[in-house]
Amino acid sequence: MEDKYPFELISLPYQYNALEPYIDTETVKLHHDKHLKKYVDNLNEILSNYPVYQTWSLEKLILNNNTLPTNIQTGVKNNAGGVYNHNLYFNIMRPGSQLNEPIGNLKEAIIKSFDSLENFYNLFKEAALKVFGSGYAWLIVDKDKELKIVTSANQDVPLNVFHVLLIDVWEHAYYLKYKNKRDEYIMKWHNIIDWDKSEKNYNIAVNFLNTLKNNWF
Ligand code: MN
Repeated sequence: MEDKYPFELISLPYQYNALEPYIDTETVKLHHDKHLKKYVDNLNEILSNYPVYQTWSLEKLILNNNTLPTNIQTGVKNNAGGVYNHNLYFNIMRPGSQLNEPIGNLKEAIIKSFDSLENFYNLFKEAALKVFGSGYAWLIVDKDKELKIVTSANQDVPLNVFHVLLIDVWEHAYYLKYKNKRDEYIMKWHNIIDWDKSEKNYNIAVNFLNTLKNNWF
């Protein structure tokens, strides 16, 4: 898939029913085929009138949003963010298991940063519960190589940090199965985090930051 206009709907790396019983088939189908597709279509529609930005990657559109014509800034921000956030969300999930837990360097870093896996899960849950309205909770690496839990509203993307994983807490992500019980969705969601891909994201971030440091000194 080319990372520029026209953007394409990503394929799920698993079947619609693969996240059962933690996320139901109907939710995955609607979330991917309707919600995510709408962001892709909206973004393409906006850019169809602006050939000069059709060579820009998703990341470039998000990072340089304030250099776009003012009348499309909000539309691009919301829809490019919607595509980016959902692409990451769907890619850092996998078929579940109750024994699912972080691995390798990321596991070590989580325990170092948050004292224990249990404490990490609790802090992550608290953060995700505090998102007022629609948004996401993220595990990120900042420029000092520190792991942090942050949240974002709507389809905003945390900038100038590396994204390890995120949970979508828009109601469309969980309401069919969990109704208003966002906390239950968040706790069950731990069973389907793809910790292999999350650790890869973590390692890429740390390796990149190490390279920068070497160049500075
Ligand atoms: Mn969503």
